[in-house]
Amino acid sequence: KRNPLPPFATSTLQQESWKRFHFPAKLTMQIAQQLYESGFITYHRTDSLNLSDQSLFSAKKFITANFGKEYWAGFLRGYKAKGRVQEAHEAIRPTYPARAPESVKLDQNQLKLYDLIWRRFIACQMSQAIFDSTTIDIQAKNYTFRATGQVLKFDGFLKVYPMKFEETELPPLKKDEILELIKLKPSQHFTQPPPRYTEATLIKTLEENGIGRPSTYAPILSTIQERNYIEKNEEKRFQPTEIGTVVNGLLVNHFPKIVNIKWTAEMEEDLDKIAEGKRKWVEVLQEFYQPFEENLKQKYQEVSKKDITEKPTEKICPKCGAPLLIRLGKFGKFYACSKFPKCKHTEPLEENILGIKCPKCKKGEIIEKRTRKRKIFYACNQFPKCDFALWDKPTGKKCPKCGSLLIETKRKQIKCSSKECDYIEK
Ligand SMILES: [Zn+2]
Ligand SMILES: [Zn+2]
Ligand SMILES: [Zn+2]
Repeated sequence: KRNPLPPFATSTLQQESWKRFHFPAKLTMQIAQQLYESGFITYHRTDSLNLSDQSLFSAKKFITANFGKEYWAGFLRGYKAKGRVQEAHEAIRPTYPARAPESVKLDQNQLKLYDLIWRRFIACQMSQAIFDSTTIDIQAKNYTFRATGQVLKFDGFLKVYPMKFEETELPPLKKDEILELIKLKPSQHFTQPPPRYTEATLIKTLEENGIGRPSTYAPILSTIQERNYIEKNEEKRFQPTEIGTVVNGLLVNHFPKIVNIKWTAEMEEDLDKIAEGKRKWVEVLQEFYQPFEENLKQKYQEVSKKDITEKPTEKICPKCGAPLLIRLGKFGKFYACSKFPKCKHTEPLEENILGIKCPKCKKGEIIEKRTRKRKIFYACNQFPKCDFALWDKPTGKKCPKCGSLLIETKRKQIKCSSKECDYIEK
């Protein structure tokens, strides 16, 4: 038997909305704000799982009228959030449970989110889903092989809120039946390193560690992206940037306390206590700020910005003849003249040379670059003298039909980069 999931609070709504629609937390909160302001849902910044009696009764009425009595849980199912919670709020639910998503007029994104919130709430008052589970032990000389599987018998809340469970269906077998060996597939399992965070798993981890509150999960995630500390890779998982790695190293080395997870969680708790009138804010800030300020003053003298953001090179500035430095800026490393600000010469650091000559000017090299929005593209390093550029990665081979560069598309298809040529490798 499986129980439905509890109704949404802010963090779970943000996680689920990422999993289903790939909405970043910030977008989810913007849409939720619109739904809240137009009266579709209850307040969307909450860590409470409370549900008003009235909402429970109207859910019961809706479920029995639309799906039948057997789909209602049979009692008013209440939920309680773990840990300290501002109980003044309710969970995030539709204001009027009878207002089904099919009957409302909303724009596409609003409808997606409303539909999700509505289904999650209705489902939490529905009956359990019932599975039949079977285990089969197969004896083969000295070894026992075990197969387990489940079959859905009654869908219950899954009718409204579909979820995937591992559901291996097994063939009907009799006890002591002799089985024939078709094939033996040896396989070895390796422990995988933990995968990189997504929007959803990062919010979950923040919440588990007591960092962030309903009003701050989304801003935390957008701030570290806007400051370019992390970026999303091709799988839409977060990875640290160069600048992020440097900033983190600096903080961990010189300000270990303020980046300590436990300390941050305690700070959040103190802030909650201030909000509840249980602690005085002057006191809390003083405890934090005085030692912090002293440490900061000391570090201003000890730590040199140059050591972190500049590295000497043997290259010479073409404008003034002074040596060039590799400098770390907000968007990564680049060459800059050591006589800055007198000389403003800079040039890109060509770490990403593909080893392919530019087919247009025949002089330049193709390099991997990024747009302002961090989208990868491939261009001639003689820019702005040569404007050759491609969105897809060139393979280095030439088209057998027209001689243009071949590219690999995002769908892993090799084709000709020329718009006039239809060559596709099969
Ligand atoms: Zn110079
Ligand atoms: Zn070129
Ligand atoms: Zn071609």
